[in-house]
Amino acid sequence: MDFVLGGEHESIRRAARDLVERQIEPRASALDISGEFPWENARDLAGLGYFGLHVPEEYGGLGADSLALALVIEEIARGCASTALMYEVHCSLCSESILKFGTDEQKRKYLPALASGEALGAFALTEPGAGSDAGSLQTVATLKGDHYVLDGRKCFITNGNTAGAIVIFAITDKTKGVKGISAFIVEKGFPGFKPGRVEDKMGLRASSAAEIFLDGCIVPRENLLGEEGEGFKVAMTSLEAGRIGVAAQATGIAQAALEAAAGYAKRRVQFNQPISGFQAIQFMLADMATDIEASRNLYQKAAWMHAQSMRCAKEAAMAKMFASSMAVRHCADAIQIHGGYGYMREFKVERYLRDAKVTEIYEGTNEIMKVIISGQALREIS
Ligand SMILES: Cc1cc2nc3c(=O)[nH]c(=O)nc-3n(C[C@H](O)[C@H](O)[C@H](O)COP(=O)(O)OP(=O)(O)OC[C@H]3O[C@@H](n4cnc5c(N)ncnc54)[C@H](O)[C@@H]3O)c2cc1C
Repeated sequence: MDFVLGGEHESIRRAARDLVERQIEPRASALDISGEFPWENARDLAGLGYFGLHVPEEYGGLGADSLALALVIEEIARGCASTALMYEVHCSLCSESILKFGTDEQKRKYLPALASGEALGAFALTEPGAGSDAGSLQTVATLKGDHYVLDGRKCFITNGNTAGAIVIFAITDKTKGVKGISAFIVEKGFPGFKPGRVEDKMGLRASSAAEIFLDGCIVPRENLLGEEGEGFKVAMTSLEAGRIGVAAQATGIAQAALEAAAGYAKRRVQFNQPISGFQAIQFMLADMATDIEASRNLYQKAAWMHAQSMRCAKEAAMAKMFASSMAVRHCADAIQIHGGYGYMREFKVERYLRDAKVTEIYEGTNEIMKVIISGQALREIS
């Protein structure tokens, strides 16, 4: 057992940290205010080849593993959580689905463009009436000769208005419940594909959460991802990777909050001494540092399991649930340590709290994480 990152992982993490500190973090506040999509950050990440970090070299990627990907997500989130979400959905949900379930032809067609960043990826499962209960989705796909016709509406889709390739879930057989759901690779240019409203959000303001309308959308038969009826499995398998990414994202946000809080506590003088001298502040910082370390260990273990091709639904759910709740709690602590200044836009900690909140919600709420974890615990323990 080795708790030190190996050479390759460490150099990937360092390169990400360097890019984030030079380019990505300095843009984060302005992007939060403007709500503009982080295109420049996407170009910088593409420049390092990081959109294809975990894509095998034969498909144009760097061939690194899931642990490397999670480390990079944490580093990006430490600087700009909106960019981390855009990146995480692209890699852990869209490219991952194609990597795991695509035919060789599909991989050759879509992965090189996704790996280079020429096309952004998205993953469209949620609908207005189907969130936690994703199996109740209403979008239908009807086979007509050599193509499927997709009709329905998706909502809250990250990169939904900016992606070139979107993995979309729809019912192909109403009589079979979740076994009647299928996955498709849809290009933004397919007839009948239309992005709708982009949501005005509390946090992660530079990421986009968009509606998608599928109005008789024509999808070639060869773009079915996996077998017909395998869509729910595609979604749940990819979400395992996605939840590791969300846990890494939450860890990165909390790390940024800890650094801001500790730095401020050393500079802020009250009662003739830096507030870092008060035990109340020291104890908050101790709890933050400990919980961040625990989160990091949880997501890194889940990522390591994923990299060994082990199922890790429980470990990914634990990592996501723990990391997201601790990020919300400790971003609030970071504001507390800043006092009234922490509530002001001028300081970054208020953004960290707004950005952290949604990590408890997307890619499965923390209540759903508890359903997954308890379900497995009940099966494992006799
Ligand atoms: C910023 C953002 C980005 C997103 N990006 C994407 C994306 O890229 N692709 C995509 O497909 N989706 C995306 N989503 C959707 C997201 O995954 C859903 O919002 C999430 O799964 C919850 O669904 P819901 O919002 O419908 O809430 P609901 O499912 O309506 O949940 C409401 C409340 O009820 C609770 N609840 C529901 N069922 C149970 C249960 N069985 N037991 C206990 N409690 C329960 C929930 O935990 C929650 O507290 C995004 C959402 C946001 C906010």
